[in-house]
Amino acid sequence: EGQLAVYNYGGGPCYRCLFPRPPPPDTVTNCADGGVLGVVTGIIGCMQALEVLKIASGMGSSFSQYMLMFDALEGRFRNIKLRPKKPDCAVCGDKPSITCLQDYEAFCGSSATDKCRALRLLPSQDRISVQQYKELLDEQVPHVLLDVRPQVEVDICRLEHAVHIPLSKLEEKNEESLQYLQKIICREKQRTDDPTSLPVYVVCKLGNDSQKAVKILQELPAKEFGSVLAKDIKGGLMAWATKIDLTFPQY
Ligand SMILES: [Zn+2]
Repeated sequence: EGQLAVYNYGGGPCYRCLFPRPPPPDTVTNCADGGVLGVVTGIIGCMQALEVLKIASGMGSSFSQYMLMFDALEGRFRNIKLRPKKPDCAVCGDKPSITCLQDYEAFCGSSATDKCRALRLLPSQDRISVQQYKELLDEQVPHVLLDVRPQVEVDICRLEHAVHIPLSKLEEKNEESLQYLQKIICREKQRTDDPTSLPVYVVCKLGNDSQKAVKILQELPAKEFGSVLAKDIKGGLMAWATKIDLTFPQY
């Protein structure tokens, strides 16, 4: 699916008229995870170029008040009318409060590019680096490593000693998965001198889903799970692959 609109042009709405506030960063997917069908961006890209030429030559744009939607699967184009410009818009309204470029990474809570798109859901004391994780692995510090990636990604590569529970199972509080985790934690606790706080390190591909998982683990009932000291591994397995083990597959 592709979309095309020209914002803040010819009396039409600006982007902020339609979306005054960004959605929570953890609800926004990215191209690397969501996937991109290159041909669709090619089709929409050509139409964008056409609108640029029309605007530059003074012919105006067909999409200042309309959005073109392209359904690649059905092979169908459709135009929908956009909501009009908002008089109280913070950017293009009668009394704008935003008159210069904002720090959009701070505003949206995530980085602007896909390549290093990093969520910041956890405070720094709840996160460790791959180097720190490698150190405690070398020192054989008792812990549980929890991999929360989908099965299809675990099939590509994994750290051998990791326990696998996909984030989706944690999010739905899947009973079987939680019991499994509880069992693993209990087993590891029996092997340590300090049974009160066994660290659970959570890893995913890039270090975004692992933060969501840590938040879920931190809210688990203390009665069953004791005090779980959950932390996420910053940058995930791809950081592991570039900084610790260069033979680890990247995908
Ligand atoms: Zn506006």
